[in-house]
Amino acid sequence: VGPDGTPRPPRVSAGALRSLWACERRLYLERHAPALAAPRGAHDTMLRELAGDHVRRVRERFSDVRGPIRGEIRDETRAAAETVRLLRETRATLHRPVFLAPDGTAIAVPDFVYWEDEALVVHDARLASRIEGHYDIRVQLTHHAALIEEAAGIRPARLEVTSGRDQVLVGEPIPDSQYRALRARALGLLSGGAEPDVLKAHSRCESCPFYRHCWSRAEADGRIEAVPGMRHEVLRALGARGVRTLQQLASLDPEALADSLKIGRLGRHLVLSARALRDRAPVWLETPRLPPGRPLVWLDCEGDSDPDDGAQVVYLWGLAVDPDPAGGPLQVESLFGDLAPGGDAAGWRRFLARAGEIRARFPGAVWVHYSPYERTAFAMCRRRYGDPEGVTDHIERSAFDLHAEAITRWVKLPLRSLSIKHVAPFVGFHWSDPESGSAWSLVQYRRARATADPGARRAILDRIAAYNRDDLEAMRAVWRWIEQWLGRMRRQRHAATAPSRHRPGGAVRRTRAP
Ligand code: SF4
Repeated sequence: VGPDGTPRPPRVSAGALRSLWACERRLYLERHAPALAAPRGAHDTMLRELAGDHVRRVRERFSDVRGPIRGEIRDETRAAAETVRLLRETRATLHRPVFLAPDGTAIAVPDFVYWEDEALVVHDARLASRIEGHYDIRVQLTHHAALIEEAAGIRPARLEVTSGRDQVLVGEPIPDSQYRALRARALGLLSGGAEPDVLKAHSRCESCPFYRHCWSRAEADGRIEAVPGMRHEVLRALGARGVRTLQQLASLDPEALADSLKIGRLGRHLVLSARALRDRAPVWLETPRLPPGRPLVWLDCEGDSDPDDGAQVVYLWGLAVDPDPAGGPLQVESLFGDLAPGGDAAGWRRFLARAGEIRARFPGAVWVHYSPYERTAFAMCRRRYGDPEGVTDHIERSAFDLHAEAITRWVKLPLRSLSIKHVAPFVGFHWSDPESGSAWSLVQYRRARATADPGARRAILDRIAAYNRDDLEAMRAVWRWIEQWLGRMRRQRHAATAPSRHRPGGAVRRTRAP
């Protein structure tokens, strides 16, 4: 509603176009069912605060700034009239000016517009370090330019962005036909109609505020989009054959499906995943073969983009040497970097020193991690800071990725995702701090960097370390669960092949034979 309490007419904003670009169902729900959204989490709040700080820093670089007009004048029509007046009567830089389409169906509020030799420049402040590949940023800049022309009759000479690395980057507008189509679609969704019947990939939905709404409904309806690994083209082909539910997909012959759709091993993968979901039980594809080396060394690192220069940094290397995965609690070592610019280098050196000791003492150890992030972190830190003794080469040769080499290869699970946050609870493990998560961890890391109070800092780092310890315990719980299944499979195989007193040639007959 507007400031006077009356319902606002639907207006396409840059934010609406960004939501549409992410998912049209999301834009629809934001407008028509906002109460279904999850409350904003600490990570989103942190990003908003960082974005606000960034805009304030960019503002300081301009002189003769008026505004923020959107903040000072709440009524959009009056704010738009004031913006046009200032553009006509001054050459001031305008902070959060308001541009309203003549028919009232669209609005744009760029961060800044400023004059350069009688040409108007649109300038946004973004946390992203690059804009190539960020089509959504180009869409929003194009929207600003279109609305400035419609509202004030001025065609901006340039669109630009101050990135999260404080570089000024020029943004290319998207083609006009694409922009018009997006804007028309956004207005249609904002105006009403039925909720779009869309379900995006789980990896994208998981961070969406409407995740619970969309995925609970998808599972209740038995939608096959919820099957991990489903692809759009396969979905269409299945729909054309009348296969629309999990039950139908689970009952297909995997080989016949693969042949008829020409999708090779994906056919088997989809049908067996559907069976796991239908029966709420694991479906094993092959007998697990866990690496025999010992001890195990559990490894999990936490990373973030550096608040000072936007570069990726690893701020915690967590590891635990484990002679017996069925034993008591892990002895976890939490190797933090220094909480200062460039402090990740110190964390890397600490990690190399400790990992070198482990290599010398336990040359047959198996380093277990979950997902490729640890290998990516090795490559990044080696490139940046070196590894003169080849410690990480050794680790990589003896490493085992529990996600890629075990869970995704050996078994289909009745889960939406095979990330550790889904798999570990399935096998009975729960994080001791239910608030924690990787996004939570990096919020805490930034809080630790920001505080000048050593006690508060220590307390925050201890919470991050406890979360990381749970990550290692979560991996260990998955390992144990695989071992338990392996034991069960061996017992079944043994029972099936062992001589039986009830079968010819069984144990009883043999004892009687002589
Ligand atoms: S959860 Fe997924 S499908 Fe639902 S609105 Fe969000 S992105 Fe779209």
